[in-house]
Amino acid sequence: MSFKSKLLGDFIALRFLRWRHKKSLKKLQDRGWNKMQAVLEKSEYYQGYTAQNLPLTEYPIINKAIFMDNFDAINTRGVKLKNAFEVAREAEESRNFAPMIEDITIGLSTGTSGNRGVFLATESERAQWVGCILDRVIGFSLKQRKVAFFLRANSNLYSSVKSKLLSFEFFDLMLPMTEHINRINTLQPTILVAQPSLLIELAREVEMGNVNIFPQKIISVAEVLYPEDAVYLSRVFNQKIHQVYQCTEGLLATTCSEGTLHFNEDFLIIEKRYLDEKKERFFPIITDLKRSTQPIVRYELNDIIHEKENCPCGSPFTGIAQIEGRADDVLRFKTLENIEKTIFPDFFRRAIVQSHDSIIDYTLVQTEENRLELFIDSAEVIRNMAKSSIQKLLTDNGINAVDIITVNERHHEKGNKLRRIRNDYWKTN
Ligand SMILES: [Zn+2]
Repeated sequence: MSFKSKLLGDFIALRFLRWRHKKSLKKLQDRGWNKMQAVLEKSEYYQGYTAQNLPLTEYPIINKAIFMDNFDAINTRGVKLKNAFEVAREAEESRNFAPMIEDITIGLSTGTSGNRGVFLATESERAQWVGCILDRVIGFSLKQRKVAFFLRANSNLYSSVKSKLLSFEFFDLMLPMTEHINRINTLQPTILVAQPSLLIELAREVEMGNVNIFPQKIISVAEVLYPEDAVYLSRVFNQKIHQVYQCTEGLLATTCSEGTLHFNEDFLIIEKRYLDEKKERFFPIITDLKRSTQPIVRYELNDIIHEKENCPCGSPFTGIAQIEGRADDVLRFKTLENIEKTIFPDFFRRAIVQSHDSIIDYTLVQTEENRLELFIDSAEVIRNMAKSSIQKLLTDNGINAVDIITVNERHHEKGNKLRRIRNDYWKTN
């Protein structure tokens, strides 16, 4: 079967299943889990569990480190991590974008060296992924559409969506904005896909009159879309901003007609590890019922998710109010009594943006045990208001003696993910 016919099959199946199983999600997931047993039998890591016919809840919860340590035993095709790494690195160095072992595409996740993940997908799995992107993200249409896609490097995963009705133009994230302006004005994209920090740069150019584009749909990917940024972008582009929550582990969530992210629970089982007593925040533990080369079973992510209940769209899939950041974005301090106190990034975000209406662009980074670096793209008087607001938050939590230093440069390197609030100190100490 050709890639396109596989893709069409997956696309139709997703559409059909979505309506048929609206009321019986649990049944659909149970069926998916039963089907997945045939995959798990081929995995050295999981076959012992399958042989005993254990329910999902009896499987071990793993994370990226465990997943990578057991790479050779988990995958069902006998791929060795050492070999996969070599192939992927060679491809990266030669800018050849299709690292393959037999019919398996090798993907490397971004991350610090030594902490990079390796992900495997066959053509069928890629077709499923593209089918899902078409169904949930781009949407089907008989009109011809042009997609402007900003990413780090071209990837054969994305080019596969190209057809008569849909064309993709890639913009290299690493190039300065000035190099994109003419090209994007000429292209006049129907759909714009980029990370929020880049969408913001584009929005600024729109406000200055340098960029004149009228996309019908804007999709934010790869980074956390902060609520203020979403408001700003919606205002400039005069539309709702859609989101994709995706990582190398899979396409996790996409936005509904109301603009709410929902986990794709028709093929994912989501368990929640709550992080606070009020059960407002959790780490998702994902089981992907579709992956076969590299099974994803009870894989805990370190993204802090806020749940949204009762989305007006009526979807039975768990809604996400906000992706607050990652586990290492949590700031940690010591109180006067020498007790460790953690404060979630969202509290700092609120303290900053609520101190003055005009604050949109900011970063706050913990660089030392008692030092915070604050960048705000505003006048000094406004910075000082944000500073006192942060100070109050700390004092209310019994934390004193933290220096808040204002800096003139945003903590962000071009091409990297923008994380407005992050902790650079504690992960290394
Ligand atoms: Zn919804």
